[in-house]
Amino acid sequence: MAILRVAVAAPVYSIFDYLPPVGCDLSQLHCGVRVRVPFGRGERCGVLLQVASESPLQSNRLKRVLEILDDQALFSAEDIALLRWAADYYRYPPGEVFASALPARLRKGTKDKRGACSGWRLTPPGGAVDPDELNRAPRQAELMKLLSHSPEGMTQQDIVLNCGSCTSVLRKLEQRGWLEQIEIRAGNDAHPVSITEAAPDLNEDQRKAVDKVVAGLAGFGVFLLDGVTGSGKTEVYLELVKKVGAQGGQTLVLVPEIGLTPQLLQRFRRRLQLSISVLHSSLAEGEREQAWQRARLGVSRVVIGTRSSVFVPMPDLRLILVDEEHDLSFKQQDGFRYSARDVAVFRALRCKCPVVLGSATPSLESLKNALDGRYLHLRLPARAGGATPPKIELLDIRSAQLEAGVSPVLMSLLETELGAGNQVLLFLNRRGYAPILTCHDCGWLAQCERCDARMTVHLSDNQLSCHHCGAQYPMRRCCPECGGEALRTLGQGTERLEEMLKMRYPHVGMVRIDRDATRHKGSLERLLKEIKEGKHALLLGTQMLAKGHHFPQVTLVGILDLDQALFGADFRAAERMAQLIVQVAGRAGRAVKPGRVLIQTRHPDHPLLQTLLGSSYADFASESLRERRLALLPPFSFQVLLRAEANQKEAALKFLEECVELGGTMNAAGVESWGPVSAPMEKRAGRYRFQLLLQSDKRSVLQGFLAEWVPRIAILRSARWVRWSVDVDPQEIL
Ligand code: ADP
Ligand code: ZN
Ligand code: ZN
Repeated sequence: MAILRVAVAAPVYSIFDYLPPVGCDLSQLHCGVRVRVPFGRGERCGVLLQVASESPLQSNRLKRVLEILDDQALFSAEDIALLRWAADYYRYPPGEVFASALPARLRKGTKDKRGACSGWRLTPPGGAVDPDELNRAPRQAELMKLLSHSPEGMTQQDIVLNCGSCTSVLRKLEQRGWLEQIEIRAGNDAHPVSITEAAPDLNEDQRKAVDKVVAGLAGFGVFLLDGVTGSGKTEVYLELVKKVGAQGGQTLVLVPEIGLTPQLLQRFRRRLQLSISVLHSSLAEGEREQAWQRARLGVSRVVIGTRSSVFVPMPDLRLILVDEEHDLSFKQQDGFRYSARDVAVFRALRCKCPVVLGSATPSLESLKNALDGRYLHLRLPARAGGATPPKIELLDIRSAQLEAGVSPVLMSLLETELGAGNQVLLFLNRRGYAPILTCHDCGWLAQCERCDARMTVHLSDNQLSCHHCGAQYPMRRCCPECGGEALRTLGQGTERLEEMLKMRYPHVGMVRIDRDATRHKGSLERLLKEIKEGKHALLLGTQMLAKGHHFPQVTLVGILDLDQALFGADFRAAERMAQLIVQVAGRAGRAVKPGRVLIQTRHPDHPLLQTLLGSSYADFASESLRERRLALLPPFSFQVLLRAEANQKEAALKFLEECVELGGTMNAAGVESWGPVSAPMEKRAGRYRFQLLLQSDKRSVLQGFLAEWVPRIAILRSARWVRWSVDVDPQEIL
């Protein structure tokens, strides 16, 4: 008898047994195909994990699979093992884990599994045009040149990656009859981009790092590539990808947020003669599916993607790279709360291939693994190409008269740099105009009705908005308490900083980069390109500016307001802040011009700032590790956070209390628990939030406990009235 074991896309913790459909040819059936099954009163999609010969249930109680949706497996045995491990480790329903690893259309059970997406190709008349003759239309020439290298055409996505957003130019070329729009199907466009750039000769440290990884290509190994910003980590990646590509292997490159790293993508495109798939959240569904299929079919040799790409099937995977491995965005913060970095390490172990974790500011977790000898520590201590590291200084602003957050000292330094024709970067990690709106007469504060939080003033669209639940109201003209009109804003966000600077320096090119200013697709790329071209002398923005970009002309970086991060509630606050400072600082003086970094603070004696200044990130990290060891905090212990939220406080609390009680009846030796306590922001989006923290010094002990506990709390009566979630290895205690 054949029993089909299926991960059904539903919020339940088990795998379900079914009988094969009537007339199903079992010899043609592969694990890893999608199936349609009856479930409850309806139907669901699922993935076939296993064909077994018996079931704990009697066969007359088993239902039949309704339909097999694929001829060929979408997931290999390796993929299935990885996803099952992830479902187990993060305690998330397996069917939903599998569903989340599929592109949306396939997830819904659509049968045709080959995605198509839109692209462009030269027409015969277009093929006869010499791009060099188009010197009056450089953008058109650029596109014509690009497409002349790909006679079969290129996806719109690939074109944009090479040339930036260019839809209107494409349309113009179409009108001239030189280009036509086509559909490109998965697997059709295996042609790499042919614009190439020469690679620099690697320096000795880079060479050593490459050699070490290459020597380990035959098996599993974790390498921590610990290199200061600008030390040439990306060059190391490129060299490794080339090596692996030459051996016929695929490489997976995980990056924090692709929208933020168009430059990295372009560099990969131009330097590698390999077909690349790109996967990230702002792709259209068709493009996404196509990229996924190309990776799965082995057509693309390199997959560059954000977090969820860690699950993309890749038959010839031989190397995984995780860039900026410390970055918080690798951890999914809702639903299936996996860490893509940690999954990458497990995936490499299963695939018996190396994984390289790269960062200028490695996480304490990874550093500890390196110290323990589990990861091989590769160091790139100096900037490549001879650039000098920036000088970091503190600016005591305790008695300074600030103007939109900028002190007079910083202002005059800024003027000097602008006068010398250099670029200046001002970093303020708060978007909007001002974080507080208050009434001068009665002291009223604009508070979100649904959160324990203040509303942020956004003047550009004249709104009050809550950055926690997304609530928005029109800007108030008078006080709702006393009716007075003396409303004042307090503090500053990037909008206000921009306003002040524009007033002071009306003739200076200025650009603001934050989530509001880059909301439209392609706008970030455009702004970054303008910066690179030297259009703007003053760059201001939030942490979006801190990540991965190259601004060679920047000689001065001002960090305006980090003081609140010095006293964060989360024990990781110091680590995050140190990483941010070092990353922002890394934007300065990356080329020949030396850079200077000024941190404005009211706490110049704070030990964290002093360690960072007096020494290096490495010293800061070893000091923090020492503190964590004494306090028995991660990475010297392992944590799990059980969160619960409900419209009524009592409901959330009651659920968590019952969970504690249940745990008490189980074997919980070696697992400590704290709580329930209220979350740092107790009320959010109208719900009350509480949490329970579990901790153990052994991962396996905690995992053993969860395996039994989670399925049991899932069926508690009190669970029905709350939204709850299990967060294994939580990164933020929000
Ligand atoms: P990271 O990824 O560590 O920030 P990059 O790989 O982006 O560093 O390198 C920083 C800059 O130095 C880039 O402009 C790069 O082209 C240049 N560079 C990197 N390696 C070398 C090298 N071996 N010789 C000359 N220039 C290099
Ligand atoms: Zn008032
Ligand atoms: Zn809110």
